[in-house]
Amino acid sequence: MYQELLQKAKEISKNAYCPYSKFQVGACILYESGKKYEGCNVENASYGLSLCAERNAMSSAVANGEKTKIKAIAIYSPNQKKCLPCGACRQWIAEFAINDKETKIILEDDNSTPLVLNLEDIFPYGFKFE
Ligand SMILES: [Zn+2]
Repeated sequence: MYQELLQKAKEISKNAYCPYSKFQVGACILYESGKKYEGCNVENASYGLSLCAERNAMSSAVANGEKTKIKAIAIYSPNQKKCLPCGACRQWIAEFAINDKETKIILEDDNSTPLVLNLEDIFPYGFKFE
């Protein structure tokens, strides 16, 4: 399953709009519903307006009416092995995660196999509105 998510992230990374950084990223998210949503990064001439692949995929899920939580998110970049989500995306993933122990972050390891992390491994003290 993780290999399949990584493969889809790999495919969607080819659609990245990144004329400035040339840094392609793709994300594929599996929700509890079994549905998958994908996203790539979309840059802008005004750099700060650029959108990451992960948030693009989560926005797509919301726009498509997804109401369940994130089981796993695979992130891939041909430019960098183990391409971790940025801080903003970690906070976004936490917003839609089952919890920080069950939601998995899937990266491509050095030997091209999936590296599986828990959300808590990369985002142990996220902001929560309580
Ligand atoms: Zn990001």
